[in-house]
Parts: sequence; C-alpha cells; structure tokens
Amino acid sequence: MFSDYRQRLVNELKEELEAAENISCEYLASQIRSIGFTCSMCGKCCRRSCGDNRVFLTSSDIRSLQECSLDDAVFPMLPDIQDVPFEDALHEYAQELEVDSQGRYHTFGWMLKRKVNGNCSFIGEDGSNRCGIYDRRPMLCGTYPFYIKCGKLLTSECEGLGKPISDEDAVLLAEGLLGRYVTELKDTALLYEKFEANEGSSPNMNSSKSSFDVDEVLFVVHDHNGNSEFVIKLHK
Ligand code: SF4
Repeated sequence: MFSDYRQRLVNELKEELEAAENISCEYLASQIRSIGFTCSMCGKCCRRSCGDNRVFLTSSDIRSLQECSLDDAVFPMLPDIQDVPFEDALHEYAQELEVDSQGRYHTFGWMLKRKVNGNCSFIGEDGSNRCGIYDRRPMLCGTYPFYIKCGKLLTSECEGLGKPISDEDAVLLAEGLLGRYVTELKDTALLYEKFEANEGSSPNMNSSKSSFDVDEVLFVVHDHNGNSEFVIKLHK
C-alpha cells in the first residue's frame, strides 16, 4: 500500500520535472522583469525577528558548503520556534516531529544553521546586512523572494518587489530559479524513492529519551541520500 502511494508521488514529481525542463528561461526572465525586483539590503529575509527565515538546503547547496569546509552550517530541518534555545524547544520539537522508540527525532532535509537569536549564521551584525557567504549562498537565498511552485512563478513578501531590474539580472535570476526548482524536484523524488519507514515508531510519540535527562539528541534525517544520523550536544 505504502509502496503504491510512494510510486504515485515519485511519478507525479517526474512529470513535474519533465515540465520544468521545458520552462523557457527567457519567458521566466520577462515575468521577473514585469514584476520588478531590486534588493534593498534590508536583511529582513535573513533575520528571525522578521519572520520564518529558515533556509532549506538543496543537495547542491550542501555540496557547495562542504567544498568550502562549512559542514557546520548544515543543520537538520527543524520546526520554526522563535526565541527559544534549542534545549528548551525539544518538547515542542517532539510535538511536531516523529520521535522513535530509541528517542531519535526524525526529520526531512536540511537547513542553514541559525544563531541563538534565530538570525542566519552568516548575516553581518555590523549594520551592513552583508552575507558572509554571498558567493556560496544557498539557492533559496540567491533567488529570494521568487520561487516556482507547480510550474508557476510566485513571490514571498519583500520590500524590493516592484522595483526595476536590469535585463541581465532578470536572466540570472531566472536561471537560478530554474536550477533551484529542478534540483528541489530531483531531491524530493530521490527522498521518496529512498525513504525507509521507521519500524515501531509513531508520529508525535513522547519518548522518555526526549526529555532533559540526556546530554545529546540524535536526529535521523531523511533526504535524497536516504537516512543519516546527526548528533546535537546539549549545553545544560
Ligand atoms: S546565507 Fe546569506 S543571504 Fe542567506 S539567509 Fe544567510 S545571510 Fe541571508
């Protein structure tokens, strides 16, 4: 039953991928030009105080960060809980994530690590709002506030929208968006294909090991490579 459902999801993703590969970059660039966008360097998309700033990482982002020894910036995807240190948020994570009989938290995919205050680890805190990894910033950052869903160009909230953009920048943005869309679809198809259900666990299960009597927390991250474990040490 599960394998039929999984196969249907994979087939749907492959159809979407085929359609994505036929999207014209020029057409996308013309749509971006008519919407308009100039980054005002406000830094709001990088700061938690301005909303959910989690940066989902694609397989290509993870490779790029690893190539420049920034493995530490790759963190399991967590629910967005504001103004709470990781240790104090564990009970809330246990409500939103599956916790198995071994006390391991299961999650899907990776995000960019954030500071204790919730801001991105790489945002300049000197008032400049500069990105510390600008040339290697994740695909989501390089294409914000645009994204593509089911083949359609959509936008997130951003004060830079509606401002002029050069032809050259619109084409670069369109190329980045298409690359991101295709990579995300491929990653998701692989995730479904390689996903192994965790025997003996149930969603939102409260495990004795998920309480504060431990000095580390084990995550199982399901991604395009299958499953891997990730240990987070607790500072108590
Ligand atoms: S990587 Fe750079 S652009 Fe992306 S959220 Fe962090 S500071 Fe902002």
